[in-house]
Amino acid sequence: MVKTDKIPVAVLGATGSVGQKFISLLSNHPWFEVKMVAASEKSTGKKYKDAVNWILNEPIPESIGNLEVKNCEPDGNISLAFSGLDSKVAGGVEDAFANAGYTVVSNSKNHRMDEYVPLLVPEINPEHLQVIKKQNYKNNGCIITNPNCSVIGLVLALKPLLDNFGIESINVVTMQAISGAGYPGVSSLDIIDNVIPYIGGGEEEKVETEPNKIFGSFNGNGIKNLDIKISAQCNRVPVVDGHTECIQVKLKKKTSLTYIIECWNSFTGGLQEYNLPTAPLKPVYYFAESNYPQPRLHRNIDKGMAVSVGRLREDKFFDFKFTILSHNTMRGAAGGALLCAELMRVTGNLKE
Ligand code: NAP
Repeated sequence: MVKTDKIPVAVLGATGSVGQKFISLLSNHPWFEVKMVAASEKSTGKKYKDAVNWILNEPIPESIGNLEVKNCEPDGNISLAFSGLDSKVAGGVEDAFANAGYTVVSNSKNHRMDEYVPLLVPEINPEHLQVIKKQNYKNNGCIITNPNCSVIGLVLALKPLLDNFGIESINVVTMQAISGAGYPGVSSLDIIDNVIPYIGGGEEEKVETEPNKIFGSFNGNGIKNLDIKISAQCNRVPVVDGHTECIQVKLKKKTSLTYIIECWNSFTGGLQEYNLPTAPLKPVYYFAESNYPQPRLHRNIDKGMAVSVGRLREDKFFDFKFTILSHNTMRGAAGGALLCAELMRVTGNLKE
């Protein structure tokens, strides 16, 4: 067998909507190589290509298609796992992998708000990685989490506003894609020709709480959450990929439309020096066109890793309003998790 320098990784929940995106992205990743795919009992023992209902528009990577799907139990030869597990099981399984010495990078909600688990957005709060030292997992294992798929676009668009003007309150209405509900997700009879004004699993609560942890300050000991008032209404719409959100924001300092646009255009997120394979060239793309952003046109911008922003106007009740769009399974899940692991590697936080 050819020896490789790549870091061996496991994908938990490899057959799901997010899991498939992980497989696709990892099949050509310069630093990581999939050595284990794991899922539920219904898939275990089968070859990956026979267990998965592949929904991506490129072929199943051959090397991974022939791997046997395993139970979600730690394998001693691997120390990094990406989790796209159903939240009904993710909490306990991720704990078991962390106790076995794994670094677990998770997309599930279960551990996001745990005191010493970073809710990591590499362009926003890389310093939060320091809290992993406080986790109590055995064998130096740890858990890192990714934000909810509607939160990631929101916080990337808000970060330049927070840094320059401060934020008092936000009202956000989401229009979320069906792939966000996993596979098979919402039935076609429910979603075609329709909008569903409810997303289960505490979606609105996640949008109202996670940004304050992400924007929280690291005080050397732990994370002190911010206190922006956030109100969210979440809707499922008949779009395949890409969450759109209409946002109203009240700022702490007065400013102008022009200055806000300048802040978005000049926001770098600070990752460029690291050359991370999955990092976008820039995290925020502002569009002046009055009918942008749109899911079909903009979800894949910059590898699907950036947020598209448009329709900035003054608002009668808050100060400003605008619309954003981000790719839910890319930046909002697998791509975002890969970026977290890449940041951990270059900052010496990943076991190799
Ligand atoms: P999904 O399509 O339903 O996939 C769930 C995965 O979990 C499948 O691989 C499934 O394996 C596995 N699984 C289910 N029960 C299991 C069990 N008892 N033991 C072991 N594995 C089990 O869901 P998804 O959309 O990919 O979401 C995965 C996670 O990411 C969820 O926590 C979700 O909230 C989160 N997330 C999703 C998105 C998105 O846009 N979809 C974005 C951000 C975060 P089988 O195929 O064998 O059943």
